[in-house]
Amino acid sequence: PTQANNLDAYWMPFTPNRRFKAEPRLVSRAKGMLYYTPEGREVLDATAGLWCVNAGHGRAEITRAIAAQTEELDYATNFNLGHPKAFEFASRLVNILPGDLNHVFFTNSGSESVETALKIALAYHRVRGKGTKTRLIGRERGYHGVNFGGISVGGIPKNRQYFGGLLTGVDHLPHTFDLARNAFSRGQPAHGAERADELERIVALHDASNIAAAIVEPVAGSAGVLPPPVGYLQKLRAICDRHDILLIFDEVITGFGRLGAPFAADHFGVQPDIVTLAKGITNAAVPMGAVAVRSHVHQAFMDGADAAIELFHGYTYSGHPLACAAGLATLDIYRDEKLFERAAAIAPHWEQALHTLREAPHVVDIRNIGLMGAVELAPIPGKPGERGQAIFHRLFDDGLLVRVTGDIIALSPSLIVAEGEIDRIVAAIREGLSQIA
Ligand code: PMP
Repeated sequence: PTQANNLDAYWMPFTPNRRFKAEPRLVSRAKGMLYYTPEGREVLDATAGLWCVNAGHGRAEITRAIAAQTEELDYATNFNLGHPKAFEFASRLVNILPGDLNHVFFTNSGSESVETALKIALAYHRVRGKGTKTRLIGRERGYHGVNFGGISVGGIPKNRQYFGGLLTGVDHLPHTFDLARNAFSRGQPAHGAERADELERIVALHDASNIAAAIVEPVAGSAGVLPPPVGYLQKLRAICDRHDILLIFDEVITGFGRLGAPFAADHFGVQPDIVTLAKGITNAAVPMGAVAVRSHVHQAFMDGADAAIELFHGYTYSGHPLACAAGLATLDIYRDEKLFERAAAIAPHWEQALHTLREAPHVVDIRNIGLMGAVELAPIPGKPGERGQAIFHRLFDDGLLVRVTGDIIALSPSLIVAEGEIDRIVAAIREGLSQIA
């Protein structure tokens, strides 16, 4: 088949391709901070793939570990069987997770981690004999993957409309970001923590005894990098404690050093009951996700008060040997190269460099936290998203890969990024913005 036919056969749902009908940009090779196009042109990756290649692309230590594992053991089920690397990887994860998040359930993606976490939360209250809790709390602008649980608690309407029946019994906390009050704030905005109090209002409305869990991204990523207001996550934690509601942090993006600490829970000093992980867990070399739970959650399932309850959950590929091998090699790199500390050390330069874009054309806000960043552009009147698409294509053709959501440029370079590369990212964006309408 011709290349045109190849491109035609591949369907990446849904909207961007349909609305913008742009030629997809292709990459066929990657190393470190760089992608290469099929023609061999370099593209600096300012997005770590999709917030996932935290140790940089093409890490030989990881590919070697995967290759060796392929030779040794290609597959083993985790139902009534095990393999050593799954146990080893779970313990290594527990060692770097904060507090008593000391039990790990493996999945294959962020979306599966979210479904798993929600199911654990709903079953938890039942298995420990405290009755049934059926309600879940999400948050406006939250992104929790694309499966039915995730889109139900997620707060991006276009991700859930048209897909029929969702989970019932879901309320959404208001989002915390207000451009008018917080524009160009560095790190966490000063205003907005009081929006956590909405959880008390929802509790009063529905009776706390029926709310199983609240799930939030500590920093909303896909909605355009929205750091939580100072004190917001602490308030959520306190309200959840008051009403026996499990607090779930979706750390699919923020986990594994993105904020300059191992996890966002460390960065913000707030201990969730359940954490969802994926992306950086294997440096994206092999698909994998995980859910970590605290002792009391795990214990409830182990010696559940109601012994008559039988329940089942798990995936064919949970704890896949290749993924565990990749994950172990990835954790070695994070440790040996001190990448989380490195991210913390370079974050001030990241912040300073990004904020030099204040005066660039179209820019209405700049946000940053750890090695996450966003440059928000004013939409073209009546054509939301078009300026975002224009800058994406312009920058790619100029040799820079960014992620664009609507008219927001979202940035998350690998934790190996050098100061000079940060300066190149910022210079390319400045130049690109001066070139587009
Ligand atoms: N949760 C969060 C916070 C995410 O950012 C993502 C993916 N961007 C997901 C869940 C879903 O992960 P996946 O695409 O691996 O299913």
